[in-house]
Amino acid sequence: METPDRLIWHDGKFIRWQEATVHILSQSVQRGTLGFDFMSIHETPRGPAIFKLDEHIQRLIETCRLGSLPLSYSAAELSDAVVETTRRNPGATAIKISAVIPSLEVDVVPQDSTVSVFVAAYDSAADIIARNKGEYVRSRYLKLFIEKEKRNRRNDIMPAQAKVASNYASPMAAKWKARKAGYDEIVLLDEDGFVTEAPTQNIFIVTADGILRTPPAQKVLHGITRQTILELAESMDIKTVVGDLLPEDLLGATEVFTTATTAGVWPVESINEQSIGGGLPGEITLALKSRFDDITLGRDEKFDHWLTYVLNSDANIKQ
Ligand code: PMP
Repeated sequence: METPDRLIWHDGKFIRWQEATVHILSQSVQRGTLGFDFMSIHETPRGPAIFKLDEHIQRLIETCRLGSLPLSYSAAELSDAVVETTRRNPGATAIKISAVIPSLEVDVVPQDSTVSVFVAAYDSAADIIARNKGEYVRSRYLKLFIEKEKRNRRNDIMPAQAKVASNYASPMAAKWKARKAGYDEIVLLDEDGFVTEAPTQNIFIVTADGILRTPPAQKVLHGITRQTILELAESMDIKTVVGDLLPEDLLGATEVFTTATTAGVWPVESINEQSIGGGLPGEITLALKSRFDDITLGRDEKFDHWLTYVLNSDANIKQ
């Protein structure tokens, strides 16, 4: 099958999709040091818009700091690259920005620490999923498994706040095992047995008395969707508690959902094969989901400042 007809930003120049490669012996491939961020593009009445661009750029910068990647681009340069790449790739629904050390190295600490940045804007379904062999399953509601063998990222190793490639190796192995056992997704615990997050999603529960709860920021990736849901809950007068959660809290919740750029708000139908809320999304989950979806689609005046409209450069100038 032909490669996608897309242009990828590479250190200030646009290159073709198939040219966006790094060597097998590069430091980032061999040591898993690639730092990345992933954001969404939405079709709105005012054209394509990127959700919370500044927050994603700041998180990439923080990832590079935590991962010791000496990034030489400013936030403004990176934002411009993302906007320009989106403009050049009509129909794209997602953007992945990657920071890599392309140098071929012998030691874990590179001799040449130059960091190269790639920005790709594409359609996940058409440009990736449809071109791969094998099945891609995406359930409407999640069957969740509480993973107890492999723990989440630890602050004394590489913290959960770093979107560094190596941080995803252990969750991948655990999630794959759970998939083979019929689950869609796993939730990882920390070393003390408290709930943290899924490999690429944050988690929320609603208790029987209607309180929205999520694990503390120190234990999880600072999900842009997680933060958005916390802000929306406040504006919608939904009582929220950010603090430690035990597996029993998850199993006893009336509603459970995950959040991520890829899926927004994603209802959980069961945990360890025990049904949650009768297997259907609850009232608070649906209210937050519909508000979130409206905002990303440019239908909510109040939170319109969370969108960067790429076709109207004036709209990008934040007051
Ligand atoms: N946790 C982890 C570990 C992730 O990789 C992601 C995906 N970026 C999330 C949570 C969700 O974050 P966001 O809402 O920013 O996509």
